[in-house]
Amino acid sequence: MEKEGRRRLRVVLVPAPFQGHINPMLQLGSILHSNGFSITVVHAQYNSPKPSSHPDFSFLSLPDTSTDRKMSRDDELVPFVSQLNAKCKARFRECLADQVMMSRQQGKTDDAIACIIYDEVMHFSEETAKDLNLPSIILRTGSASHFLTRSALVQLIKTEGHLPFLEFRSHDLVPELYPLRFKDLPHSIFKNLDKLLQIVSEASDNKTYSAIIHNTTACLENSSLAKIQQQCQVPIFSIGPMHKIASASSSSLWEEDNSCLAWLDKQSCNSVIYVSLGSLAFMDAKELVEMAWGLVNSQQPFLWVVRPGSVHGAEWIEILAKCFKENIDERGYIVKWVPQKKVLAHDAVGGFLSNCGWNSTLESICEGVPMICRPCFGDQGVNARYVSHIWKVGLELESELERGKIEKAVRRLLVDEEGKEMRKRAKNLKDIVELCTREGGSSNNSLKELIEMIMSF
Ligand code: UDP
Repeated sequence: MEKEGRRRLRVVLVPAPFQGHINPMLQLGSILHSNGFSITVVHAQYNSPKPSSHPDFSFLSLPDTSTDRKMSRDDELVPFVSQLNAKCKARFRECLADQVMMSRQQGKTDDAIACIIYDEVMHFSEETAKDLNLPSIILRTGSASHFLTRSALVQLIKTEGHLPFLEFRSHDLVPELYPLRFKDLPHSIFKNLDKLLQIVSEASDNKTYSAIIHNTTACLENSSLAKIQQQCQVPIFSIGPMHKIASASSSSLWEEDNSCLAWLDKQSCNSVIYVSLGSLAFMDAKELVEMAWGLVNSQQPFLWVVRPGSVHGAEWIEILAKCFKENIDERGYIVKWVPQKKVLAHDAVGGFLSNCGWNSTLESICEGVPMICRPCFGDQGVNARYVSHIWKVGLELESELERGKIEKAVRRLLVDEEGKEMRKRAKNLKDIVELCTREGGSSNNSLKELIEMIMSF
């Protein structure tokens, strides 16, 4: 509902062009729009969002920002982001400068740009905000606990001169980061450590932003949020899980296959394991085959998303032999992309085998669905550890994908007593998180403060 009688201000959003970043940014847009703000989304050409799904927003595509880098491996992410920032910088300035000048010359107070909210990854935005004298706010789309690992890593490098990620220490607890073990830290990025450190220092050299928004909630990450606030001079607003507050429009980059919902309708309550490794992870052909047999051998119904192009050397699932497909019968349903929030909300889904991307983790928690954690890279190890060790609403799948381990994990979650206990805890956590987003809850209060701050700019 739009707020009456307020001066209508415009907020410029700069999402990072990845599914797990676009979703929360557009959710934030929809929350702000329903609180009376106009929204302009400025985006790169790569993975551009679909304007037709968000008719209330204006979209501005930054010209010449397609990048020649293809991301076919997880460790290509950091160089990709670096190139993207370099390409977008000048374009963003040109694009906004015209708009700001026009509105200032016309002396317009209505529809004036109140601030820029940018994904932390798109740190080029900060300089433009400073040049144009516009306030800026950062959106962090990952978990707060993951963010803390970054400063801890930089500190470790300073004190030890290197990163002590030796195999034999991988199960040791990281000092100051309980409950995280060395193996939970975002180690795939270390292949690009120099670039990463450069990005971190560039981002922190420009400390002129006014606030930081986290898509999380105090009832999930209170102590991590408190630590971040201690380290930080500006207010932190934890207003998540945003998908529960925003209107339900989809920002999927892939076409959603809704036929899986009819298939789920035919399954019994809590019987299905839903499997997805998110929008960025890759697997090799052997892992695909192991996953397939693990799911079949578990004897439980499964709904499995295999993103096209996510299996090295294959277009989709053509590698799975005919005899495997015959073995699935009606028990398995393999698709390219699903409306995930609807899937998780379906009564038939009893568990989620997930890469533990932060959005998926929040979406699963919000539907009370316990998880099998199969982290791949980035923040996923941290999220997985919190799911299994702090909130105790999931179990961890050991790193190597092997059919026996997958079969066992699925049965532990869906059939065994242990899984039933996890489901009870997951339902309980769902209720707790829901309260945070309601009137008087911590996320709701934080959102009100954020809106007041933007109005005051
Ligand atoms: N998602 C979806 N359909 C799918 C698989 C994923 O809509 O078939 C969405 C999911 O709901 C989540 C996002 O894609 O919002 C993935 O983000 P996440 O942070 O979980 O993981 P990432 O893709 O960044 O690794």
